[in-house]
Amino acid sequence: MKEIFRERDYTRVGFCQSILEDAGIPTHVRNKDLVGTLTEVPIPEFFPALCVVHDEDYDRAVEVLRERFESDEARAAGEDIACPKCGEENPANFDLCWSCQEPIASQK
Ligand SMILES: [Zn+2]
Repeated sequence: MKEIFRERDYTRVGFCQSILEDAGIPTHVRNKDLVGTLTEVPIPEFFPALCVVHDEDYDRAVEVLRERFESDEARAAGEDIACPKCGEENPANFDLCWSCQEPIASQK
């Protein structure tokens, strides 16, 4: 068992756990039972901690999470894309031009 990270916000820990489980990496959350009782106590030792069950999965787990969050951030910080038809600027996460409904080819 090796800890990847711990965070006061269990939502994020649980979210990361589901990403890793989807990737086929067995995980365990420490202090899970304390969530809800001690969340008001800002003691890092009691924060939920996401761990890999097998130490050898650690590197892959970190990689999976990093790729996941890097792609999210890239999308969030994406450049506007000019519509190929009418030239209006559209947020990078739009599939269709807001102005003329032309499909916008993703450049990523
Ligand atoms: Zn357009």
